[in-house]
Amino acid sequence: MSEQPSAEHSVRAVLQRLESLRRAGVTHLRKAPAGAEPGAAPAALPAASIPESSSLPREPMPSKSAQKAKSPAAAFRVEALAEVERRVAGCTRCAELAASRTQTVFGVGNPNARLVFLGEAPGADEDRQGEPFVGRAGMLLTDIIEKGMKLRRSDVYICNILRCRPPENRTPLPVEAANCREYLDAQLAIIQPEFICCLGTVAAQNLLGVSTPIGQLRGRFLDYQGIKVICTYHPAYVLRNPAAKRHVWDDIQMLMAEMGLEVPKKSK
Ligand code: SF4
Repeated sequence: MSEQPSAEHSVRAVLQRLESLRRAGVTHLRKAPAGAEPGAAPAALPAASIPESSSLPREPMPSKSAQKAKSPAAAFRVEALAEVERRVAGCTRCAELAASRTQTVFGVGNPNARLVFLGEAPGADEDRQGEPFVGRAGMLLTDIIEKGMKLRRSDVYICNILRCRPPENRTPLPVEAANCREYLDAQLAIIQPEFICCLGTVAAQNLLGVSTPIGQLRGRFLDYQGIKVICTYHPAYVLRNPAAKRHVWDDIQMLMAEMGLEVPKKSK
């Protein structure tokens, strides 16, 4: 009897297949028919070549529901993310989390985003709604994006180190972060952001593979595989420690300047 491929194998296979299609100049993907072999990438339609990844156009998308691609590059990203999300929905690598979750929380936002916000793991609200950063901390993050940065939440992409809620919101175990890393890597490989903003210790330390405290990681740009990374405090920490808000705003203003966004002048 043939064995089913593991989720890890499937995701890797899909990404390799997508990359080879992109290199081959394929721009359009057709959803795999029902009953298709697990791990198979969507069928390719012959079409004109798309630009190299470094020059893929990045059009802001008006809303989550409008994540329909307007350009071949965006269409490619939407399809690729949907494929990985489908794998994540059935993932049981972390037995405890898979048994206790309501649903997986993949990520949300613009698949064409310049900026990815990376958090820790879904909480109770996120587990219920299937979307990252929708509770009180999420509302603060939305304020940072919309009131602070003058962007729309739908302009950026938001995801976590883990795609399942740890029971009682405990800190993710190293093995859980390792289990889920391939999905994060896949999301970043597809979106190819220019910037990542790590929200809190767990996001920063796991992404960068360091144990440096967040207080020493914040306030400067770091590099992750050619992506500019800025680390700051998690919105949930800011809710508990309002004095940290000033530091977060400093970090966000640094990020805005680096992104070429207008930074509000300091009042005298
Ligand atoms: S946290 Fe990630 S690796 Fe673990 S079960 Fe959920 S989706 Fe799978």
